[in-house]
Amino acid sequence: MSSIKQNIEQVMAEIAAACEKCGRLENSVQLLAVSKTKPIAAIDEAIAAGQLAFGENYVQEGVDKVQHFADHPQAMQLSWHFIGPIQSNKTRPIAEHFDWVHSVDRLKIARRLSEQRPAQLPPLNILLQVNTSGEASKSGISFDELESLADAIAGLPNLVLRGLMSIPQKAEDYDSQLTAFRALAGAQQKLQAKHPQLDTLSMGMSGDMEAAIAAGSTIVRIGTAIFGARDYA
Ligand SMILES: *Cc1c(COP(=O)(O)O)cnc(C)c1O
Repeated sequence: MSSIKQNIEQVMAEIAAACEKCGRLENSVQLLAVSKTKPIAAIDEAIAAGQLAFGENYVQEGVDKVQHFADHPQAMQLSWHFIGPIQSNKTRPIAEHFDWVHSVDRLKIARRLSEQRPAQLPPLNILLQVNTSGEASKSGISFDELESLADAIAGLPNLVLRGLMSIPQKAEDYDSQLTAFRALAGAQQKLQAKHPQLDTLSMGMSGDMEAAIAAGSTIVRIGTAIFGARDYA
């Protein structure tokens, strides 16, 4: 069995290879280690291997981990990204503990996050989750709604709109993956006319990282390939 350290090295090598292939700098893509359902010990191991950015999907579990690692010697370098669905009655702990939220898809949630962000903390980094494949079952806003939501969120005081995120429909072939990711990158480019500070595209997971990086991803979200399969029992 390979260790978390070896897994991180493997994923970093894959990121480097994907960057090389499309002529991008290796350090232009950040690895977000998705640690949902995984124990503190696994995150400790990842930090020891040099991993500093972690993604969590469940509010209580994520907050417990952020609080635990507040005492870690490297606490100041760690960043915590909330990437799961958000219920409006759960925004406060997210606003109080996380550095980034990737899954904002409505104004009500953004307003609450801004109101509830503690004044002593820097603004919360926000990505808008876009439903790029138009599946009714998935969260995320449509391309049509994107501009008005971005405009409204840009005016909220305690948030900083950084970019877009998507979880596209699973596609096995590279070309359809690339098409979906290019659509998100194109939407970001359009928004940049009015919102030039947008600099982040959270797209790409284990099975589609290479296409995501070719289309301009700046954050890839990887769980299983680092920490092993999740046990939801
Ligand atoms: C769980 C999750 C991931 C990581 O998925 P793996 O298949 O374990 O790599 C990435 N992004 C989001 C939004 C997730 O919920």
